[in-house]
Amino acid sequence: MRTEAAYCELVHDIVDRTTDALARVNDGPVRVNVPEERLTTVPLNREELVTLLTPPTATAEQILFAAADQVRRKAVGDAVHLRAIIEFSNHCERGCWYCGLRRFNHKLPRYRMTVDEVVEAAQAAVAMGFRTVVLQSGEDSWYDERTICTIIRRIKAILTPTSIPGQVAVTLSLGERPRAEYAAFRAAGADRYLLKHETADPALYRRLHPDMSFENRKQCLGWLRELGYQVGSGNIVGLPGQTVSTLAEDITLLAELDVEMAGIGPYIAHPETPLAKLAWGGVRGSSVGGDGGVGGGRGSGDGSDDGDSGGGSGGGDGDGGSGGDSRGNGARLPADAVTMTLRTVAVTRLLLPLTHLPATSALGTADPQGRQRALQAGANVVMPDLTPMRYRRYYEIYPNKICLFEDPRTCFSCLSRMVTGLGRYVATDPGHSPKWPPLAGKDGDSRQSDPDPARGQEQLPFTNLPTADSKRLPVTSH
Ligand code: SAH
Repeated sequence: MRTEAAYCELVHDIVDRTTDALARVNDGPVRVNVPEERLTTVPLNREELVTLLTPPTATAEQILFAAADQVRRKAVGDAVHLRAIIEFSNHCERGCWYCGLRRFNHKLPRYRMTVDEVVEAAQAAVAMGFRTVVLQSGEDSWYDERTICTIIRRIKAILTPTSIPGQVAVTLSLGERPRAEYAAFRAAGADRYLLKHETADPALYRRLHPDMSFENRKQCLGWLRELGYQVGSGNIVGLPGQTVSTLAEDITLLAELDVEMAGIGPYIAHPETPLAKLAWGGVRGSSVGGDGGVGGGRGSGDGSDDGDSGGGSGGGDGDGGSGGDSRGNGARLPADAVTMTLRTVAVTRLLLPLTHLPATSALGTADPQGRQRALQAGANVVMPDLTPMRYRRYYEIYPNKICLFEDPRTCFSCLSRMVTGLGRYVATDPGHSPKWPPLAGKDGDSRQSDPDPARGQEQLPFTNLPTADSKRLPVTSH
């Protein structure tokens, strides 16, 4: 472990290098559109990332947060982007071990909003002042390609009522879909897609997602990139079995993906999930208990999981091996999930200065001051829940979500107060990524319509990427 002085030196060195690089690409927040080697990451190895994530003293931790705050100001300014999230269906075909929406949670009443209801909720959000609408759901194929495209087109047709008329940005967060559907959504006008990688540890990923594969997750992220979306990913912090090294991997993956946005939030145990039933800790409700926040688990079960493993996809396979997990299941993070989340956000800001980083609702749920703390440790986005009241409580990915009973009509002004209380201001534009649209040309972004597909592939750490048919789609609304 480094001394406090050595830790602070490392942090300051990164801040200096990052701000120098920023100064070379532009002269202030924000309009950047990159190069200067795409302004992603200061090259760091795993050990250095682990070091950054484990400040030796409370003072060193404060230095990290202050440094991330400083880089955030230099890179993206004092604007905070508010994104209205509409959780339009809580039906889910997946069985993720931590998520309350999992299809095996039979206690959860399920709902689906109609197309009109989704569009009305979006209209209300736009009227309040939101310039980005995020459409999120469980993985619910009931909403087929046509239905989602209809929703997108209708929302893109809503014009903003201010002195700067324009379209709202649409972000989708629907989980994994075939490439052709992603392409259709993009062509219909979707601007961004949020698909968290959840954890960059493939073994842990497999254990927590018995019916999914990490490879496919990355494949989907690769497709989204090729199709010209602003790509959001991110991870959960405090999952049982996670180590600081895993979090270093998460940040490395975010840098490799060169994401436009990264949602990083703490794990919150949901009682109707296998992960919680295995008494693996996590943050409970709205209180965070000491280091119990990231409990070291015991053997991860027998695969019985209320019959999940019978539900197709060979669910028993993934977790069956975990009793003998080489990580020993006793893996612990050195601090509670909220603290580790704040550190992960801060380090991500240092390495990916231009990336939009939300102060997540999970953080606000786990700690009443969580979002404010994140906004002062590198974050620059807040994504309040604008789902109609009659549905909101049923989108229960974890219990006791913040603002469950907040009237949507007061949401914008409430958050504006929070933001101005921190000496910041609410952005009035759609808040597209400063990496967007990518610069074309020799030194520009090579991720789209690159004449040399091999070079394009180099940028993406994926295998089997179909490049031949990656067409450039029109970039909308800038
Ligand atoms: N179906 C979409 C949306 C999933 S829910 C998709 O697959 O992308 C949105 C996010 O909630 C997930 O990406 C996950 O990171 C987070 N989440 C789910 N359960 C959680 C829990 N118990 N604690 C913290 N975050 C959780």
